[in-house]
Amino acid sequence: MFENVPRAPEDSVFRIGRMFTECEDPLKVSCGIGAYRDNDGKPLVMDAVSEAKKRLHENPGWIHEYLPLGGHASFLKGAQKLALGDELYAEKSAEGKVGSLQTLSGTGALYVAGKMYSKFSPVKKALISNPTWGNHNAIFTNCGLEVSKYRYIDESCTSTPKLDLSGFLEDLEAADEGTLVLLQACAHNPTGVDPSQEEWMKVIEICVRKKLVVLLDNAYQGFATGDVEVDGFAIREFVKAGADIFVACSFAKNMGLYGERIGALHVVTNDKESCLDAVSQMKIISRTTYSNPPQFGALIADTILSDDKVYGVWKEQLAVMSERIKSMRGLLRGYLEAETGTDWSHITKQIGMFSYTGLTKEQCIHCREKGSLFMLETGRVSMAGLNEGNVERVAKVMAASIK
Ligand code: PMP
Repeated sequence: MFENVPRAPEDSVFRIGRMFTECEDPLKVSCGIGAYRDNDGKPLVMDAVSEAKKRLHENPGWIHEYLPLGGHASFLKGAQKLALGDELYAEKSAEGKVGSLQTLSGTGALYVAGKMYSKFSPVKKALISNPTWGNHNAIFTNCGLEVSKYRYIDESCTSTPKLDLSGFLEDLEAADEGTLVLLQACAHNPTGVDPSQEEWMKVIEICVRKKLVVLLDNAYQGFATGDVEVDGFAIREFVKAGADIFVACSFAKNMGLYGERIGALHVVTNDKESCLDAVSQMKIISRTTYSNPPQFGALIADTILSDDKVYGVWKEQLAVMSERIKSMRGLLRGYLEAETGTDWSHITKQIGMFSYTGLTKEQCIHCREKGSLFMLETGRVSMAGLNEGNVERVAKVMAASIK
C-alpha cells in the first residue's frame, strides 16, 4: 500500500518554522508562524488563561468525560456573545436564530462550514481573496468545492500593498448567486489590509443583494484594533443586514490557546427552524470526522468569557499585545525609511499580526540566507516576532535584500 504513496510537499509555514529551529545563528529572528511573542521574543501565556487554569485546578467540578457532540454549552454561549456583541446576541439567542458547534479551532470551523456548504448547496463554488491564508484553498478544495479568487490587493503597487476595492467589489458582483464567499472579519492574513467600515458596508450590500453565502473567518478578533467590539464590526453589520451567515471563530490567537484547538462555528439564520436544522447537520459532520471536541481549551475559554473579572483582565492584556504590535510597525517603518530613503507607510497602515511587506520571493530568501530573518516567501512578516531588541537589525536585513 504505502509504496505507492507519493511524498507530499511540506507546509510552507511549518517549513519556515523548521528552518528557523535548525538555524544556528544566535541573531536569528522568527517572523514566520503567526504566534504572539513578547518583547523578549518569548511565547506568552495570558494572565486570564493562567487565572482560569488556577481556578480549574483548585475547583475541578469537571472530569475527563466526553463533551456533548455540539461541545461545551456555556463556552458556546460566551463565544456567540463575543462574536455578535451583547445586543445582537440577546436578540438572536432569544429568537433561536443563532446556533453553534465547538470546533477544532478556526481550521476545524472552516472545514465544517465548507462541508456543510458542499453537502447542502447546489452551487459548490467558493471565492477566497487573492492572496489569502494558504489553508483556505486547501480546505475548500478538500470539501469538493471549485475554488476561485476575488481581487484584494492592488496589483499596480505590489511593493506597497493596499486594497483593490473596485476589483474586490467587481468580483463579488460577478459571482453566481449562492457562491460561498470567504471574508476575513479583521486582521487579514497575510496582508494586514482590512476594508474600512465604509468599505465593509459596500461589500455587505453586494453580498446580500447577490445572495452570496457568507463565511466570516474570525481568527483574530481583538488583535486588529485591540478592541473585540471594533473588530466584530463586519460580523455584526452582516447580521444587521439580514444575511444568513457562518462565522468561524478561533481562540488560538486572541487567548493564546494555539495548541488547545479551541474554536466555534456559529450560524446566524433568519428563522429558528433552519438554525436547528443547520446545527443538527454540523454535529453529524463532526461526529463522522473526529466525534467530539476537546475539553480543556473550552473550559479555559469558558472561564474567561463567563467571569466578568477574568474577562476584564483578558481584554486589557489583548489591548496591550495589540499595542505592542502597533509600536513594532512604527519602529520597523522608521528604520526601513531611514535605511532605504523610500516610503514604507503601508507597514503602519496595515493592521493585526501580519504585514505584507512587498518583498519578492528572492528578497525573502536573501533575508533568510544572509540575515537569518525567517519570513514567508510571499513577503509576509509576523509582526509578533519583532521586538525592541531585533527590529533595527530586521530593517537592515530587509533593506539589504532590496539593494
Ligand atoms: N484563519 C486564518 C486567516 C488564520 O490565519 C488562521 C491561523 N493561522 C486560522 C484561520 C486558523 O487557525 P487555528 O486553526 O489555529 O485556529
